[in-house]
Amino acid sequence: MASNLTERLSRLIKTMRGQTRISEDNVQDMLREVRMALLEADVALPVVRDFIARVKEKALGAEVVGSLTPGQVLVSIVQKELAATMGEGVADLNLATQPPAVVLMAGLQGAGKTTTTAKLAKHLVEKRRKKVLTVSADVYRPAAIEQLKTVTGQAGAEWFPSDGTQKPRDIAAAAYEYARKHYFDVLLVDTAGRLAIDEALMAEIKELHGVLKPIETLFVVDAMQGQDAINTAKAFSEALPLTGVVLTKLDGDSRGGAALSVRQITGAPIKFAGVSEKIDGLEVFDADRHAGRVLGMGDIVALVEEVQKGVDLEAAQKLAEKVKSGVEFDLNDFLAQISQMKKMGGLSSLIDKLPSEIAAKAGQADMDKAERDVRRMEGIINSMTPAERRKPDLIKASRKRRIATGAGVQVQDVNRLLNQFEQMQTMMKKMRGGGLFKMMKRMGG
Ligand code: GDP
Repeated sequence: MASNLTERLSRLIKTMRGQTRISEDNVQDMLREVRMALLEADVALPVVRDFIARVKEKALGAEVVGSLTPGQVLVSIVQKELAATMGEGVADLNLATQPPAVVLMAGLQGAGKTTTTAKLAKHLVEKRRKKVLTVSADVYRPAAIEQLKTVTGQAGAEWFPSDGTQKPRDIAAAAYEYARKHYFDVLLVDTAGRLAIDEALMAEIKELHGVLKPIETLFVVDAMQGQDAINTAKAFSEALPLTGVVLTKLDGDSRGGAALSVRQITGAPIKFAGVSEKIDGLEVFDADRHAGRVLGMGDIVALVEEVQKGVDLEAAQKLAEKVKSGVEFDLNDFLAQISQMKKMGGLSSLIDKLPSEIAAKAGQADMDKAERDVRRMEGIINSMTPAERRKPDLIKASRKRRIATGAGVQVQDVNRLLNQFEQMQTMMKKMRGGGLFKMMKRMGG
């Protein structure tokens, strides 16, 4: 089983510790991992190449802030670029024309055209209050015509009859005339597919396009198709001016890399995603969420932004300078560091944003305990007098008892805190300012 991109990058980063920026030296190795992740998600090779080139340009010289690693920053650049590429131009169906607005469905057999036609009918009837007519031009499969009739009924739309003796062009013309006369807002036209691309099929759908002049021509493609999606997408986009894509079967276990391939090859936006066989299994395509899926991870972008926002760089800098200047590190500074950690959103809220496998490893119980510890430490320090905080040496047995009572803890908890503080103070002296963030992380662990 392939591990996700974050894990791969973390492994890689371990071999290049201490590197704090994305440079020509380290970007190649990291991009190789990104490339592997995309190929594993079934993005087509030429599309991967193009994408990597764009990411590289954006990544070079990108700033690596705070406790982030170059790997995390790169992952966030990759995810943002993916989402931007796939999400560009996303919108609902365009129906802005003299009614009936015609929507032509194109795609291979089994891609999910008939199912999607019914899902769209339901969407238009219920969400957009439209009067919808469907028709099938699949004269080769009478069963497909019957299937459309059934599902159209479930969608609350009307079905226009057709049969295997008619020409697709004539069916289209008759359905359009009926829709116009009876004041339908939308006409959804399901078409025949083949198991593979062939010329007769392309000629037929081109002819239908000429007769109907649809405002939307949707390419329906199976997300499980993977690498093959690129050839199908190319053939259909050369034959027809596609206005949108519907990516079906996203409820399967594919990583959905076809989305990126199809978006890039056709230039048409991915408008909807099919997420079940049922008639309500249609969603407006969500590019951010899909980017995470392609990369096999949780919402790294949100995590990275949280860290960037949460770390008070100025306060950290001040503390670093204080230590450098040789001034004693006291319990006030210790307290400041603890609240700094809390500001980063709290440990468990950060964990929420991690990919599920990593989060599971971290263990919610451990995180809860860590948060409780942090709160207890704060409570203890808050129960000390300002003088005690500045000069912890003052804190002898009777003062310890008073502080423990004040904070509602045991004397041994106060002792433990003072020990931790002493260790930190020693470390501070050694470091004289550097590696502040690393130390904060160690405190959290
Ligand atoms: P067509 O030949 O392109 O019209 O494809 P169909 O609409 O007949 O769909 C082919 C098969 O895929 C059927 O068994 C559908 O139930 C199934 N299908 C279509 N869309 C989805 C989807 O989004 N999720 C799942 N799980 N199955 C789907």
